[in-house]
Amino acid sequence: MTINANDALSSARKRRIQKAVLGWYGLHGRKLPWRESADPYRVWLSEVMLQQTTVAAVVPYFERFTAAFPDVESLAAAEIDEVLKLWEGLGYYSRARNLHKAAQVVVSEYSGKFPDDVSTLRELPGIGRYTAGAIASFAFDKPAAIVEANTERLYARLIALREDVRSTSSQKTLWEFAESIVPSERPGDFNQALMDIGSKICRPQDPDCDQCPLQPCCHSFEQGLQGTVPVRKPRVPITAVSELGVVLQHRGKFLLRRRTETERWAGMWDFVRFEIDDAEAASLPFTQTLSARSTSLRANSNGKKNDDVPGGKKRRRTQSLFSPAGETFSESLTARIAESSGALPRQVLASMEFSYSVTRYKVRLFCFLCKAETPKLREDHEQNWFSIEKLGELPLSTTGRQIAVWLEQL
Ligand code: SF4
Repeated sequence: MTINANDALSSARKRRIQKAVLGWYGLHGRKLPWRESADPYRVWLSEVMLQQTTVAAVVPYFERFTAAFPDVESLAAAEIDEVLKLWEGLGYYSRARNLHKAAQVVVSEYSGKFPDDVSTLRELPGIGRYTAGAIASFAFDKPAAIVEANTERLYARLIALREDVRSTSSQKTLWEFAESIVPSERPGDFNQALMDIGSKICRPQDPDCDQCPLQPCCHSFEQGLQGTVPVRKPRVPITAVSELGVVLQHRGKFLLRRRTETERWAGMWDFVRFEIDDAEAASLPFTQTLSARSTSLRANSNGKKNDDVPGGKKRRRTQSLFSPAGETFSESLTARIAESSGALPRQVLASMEFSYSVTRYKVRLFCFLCKAETPKLREDHEQNWFSIEKLGELPLSTTGRQIAVWLEQL
């Protein structure tokens, strides 16, 4: 059944929702660092950070980022590596690169002043419908609608939406509903209050309907549907994959390359790393211990959270591997390492297993520290040799940083 947002909302109900939400916000709204002012730069920054993780995880990132780049001009003038370094660990690095590009556009085309309307904001790199609505309403008090994870769930329950909440028609219904309820008075407070109610009260599991200011207007509560709305299609199954990570060492330095625009974690620096198949995994120097470990890891794998996303219940494991000094890779893996780096791996010095999840993949990363011989770097990649000290200054993915920490501990 398709619900038209207007069918679900009489004007009396709309007024009750607005009054209840704004009344609740005055008493219970969250005090957050980015709410201390209506600075559109801070609103924008916090909203982009919050798209990928929890409020608690974002606060220290937000504080470090705004200390380094207190305004849009300083962000626009920064080197991209400085921006990525401060973003390190938040994941979704394209968002950091888009922040940097958008800051440059705001400075060059709008004299450092953010546009205040949704359609112009959406022309900036990385700013979608939600972020534009958040900036317009929070910073400029424009009656712009928002739909993000918390409000999506809240709206779906308020109108008892029984279709898959991610479907195109559901999204259309939810946006129409959001547009129909946002008031012309205090739209920013109203939207922030809805996000807080969604986060604190209308939680994904076990919504606290007894404490909810919207209970009298909630169709799901009325029909006892809180446990089944929002409806979501089953998740895509998790796929297990293996990666080989190779830390090539030459004259006390380590080889890293910058990941390209078409790769995951684009713009970040990384060690040599690529996916390997089962036969290649079986040929690694620790073959003798692989099958016992595989069984235990498969039993523990759930793969629900993304790599590089702080604040979730992620499970990242490390495990020392058996790898006698002097062992080397198979001929074919040696060729793949040489092809991706330009350098030839020689004997293995140490090894470690890491695991992480990214999108629908559960990844086992088998990492080896090797001496490199005849180092001749690929010229079509941005790559270089770095000292252990220099690794601390480079922007790395979370697993890249784990490898760097492991190297420090050897
Ligand atoms: Fe959510 Fe319950 Fe409030 Fe409805 S009454 S909006 S289900 S918390």
